[in-house]
Amino acid sequence: MRRALAFALCLAAPAALRAQGDAGPTILRAALVLDGTGKAWPNGTVTIQGGRITAVGALAAGAKVTRDLGAVTLVPGLIDTHVHLTWYITGKGKLHVENDGDGLTEAALAAAGNASRTLMAGFTTVQSLGSPEDAALRDAIARGVIAGPRLITSLGSLNERSGSPEALKDSVRAFKRRGADVIKLFASKSIREGGGQTMTDAQLVAACAEGHAQGLRVVVHAHDAGSVTAAAKAGCDQIEHGLFADDAARAAMVKAGTWYDPQCGLVFRNYLDHKPWFDGIGNYNAAGFAAMEKVVPEAPKQIERAANTKGLKLVFGTDAVAGAHGHNADELTCRATQGHMPLDAVLASVTSRAAASLGLGSDVGSLAPGMQADLVALGGDPLKDVSAYHDVRYVMKGGVVMRDALAAQLAARKSRG
Ligand SMILES: [Zn+2]
Repeated sequence: MRRALAFALCLAAPAALRAQGDAGPTILRAALVLDGTGKAWPNGTVTIQGGRITAVGALAAGAKVTRDLGAVTLVPGLIDTHVHLTWYITGKGKLHVENDGDGLTEAALAAAGNASRTLMAGFTTVQSLGSPEDAALRDAIARGVIAGPRLITSLGSLNERSGSPEALKDSVRAFKRRGADVIKLFASKSIREGGGQTMTDAQLVAACAEGHAQGLRVVVHAHDAGSVTAAAKAGCDQIEHGLFADDAARAAMVKAGTWYDPQCGLVFRNYLDHKPWFDGIGNYNAAGFAAMEKVVPEAPKQIERAANTKGLKLVFGTDAVAGAHGHNADELTCRATQGHMPLDAVLASVTSRAAASLGLGSDVGSLAPGMQADLVALGGDPLKDVSAYHDVRYVMKGGVVMRDALAAQLAARKSRG
């Protein structure tokens, strides 16, 4: 009996994880194909071979469609430029912290679960900003040991206490040696502590210049207008949060060509709707929660102002922490419905623009020949209704089918005869 069960499992798993296109091209058809850069093909196809896209376009006469996905919209694999996959809620219902009784095994399994949840929600690439444990997670995903999104990580962060400008440069080089893909700086206090600038201008200039010298992008946590402006002027690549950015700060980002990722709602709602998970840990206290309550109505206004600032490179990132993994699309909904971002800008921000911000624009984030076969089928058209992002039917990463709710439906229909 046990052997029969094991045999059944062996048969079931490879079907889901089998690479497509090794034998010949795979041609997927969908009612609508959106390439992530503004092109659209009703009744479109995407051709895949060897894990890469070889063609995208309208269904050609005589095309041998391998799989008709039906009444869905095919979009590029979604990209979240700010997550924390190793953050999780323990079995005791609290945010995991050091010495809480959980060991490495619990932490590793939780991180793997978060990675899987994120991938099943349609996110095939994420940037973690970031923990040392991300290195093993990134490598396990890349080797196919566990299912998860392509992971780019800072492996940690630097801040005003990291030392002199020269010491900061040393630390940037050390991150590079340890395998970091990106550098993360904290240039301001937390939103729970007012968000004022902490790193000096000289520290920011040194860290961002050294990151670039090492071939790494530098992403900066900055809340108030002063810290946002300082980070932009220092030539850093991307500003996270910037909840209190003003016209001058936004102008500084436009002038410097800085990517900007302000959060609209998911991260705040996750904290406020689940206070017991966090309450009593660090600055998650009455004052911290009150500060977050205050920003909830302000954050969508910042999205709207950013979306209406000509030339500002607005990109998608949730800052998903413990409890928020897999709910990334909530942030898309907030940006569209409360931040009034146009739906084409929302799609670009979570696909082609996000890829460009990561320096991966020629590999992921759009559907075109030569790109990774990262595809998501949505139950609706995300250019008409943002709730389509909550209806993920099919996920392919690098040509490998990771989720196929449509096949399950098809099988159910067939079994009913
Ligand atoms: Zn974060």
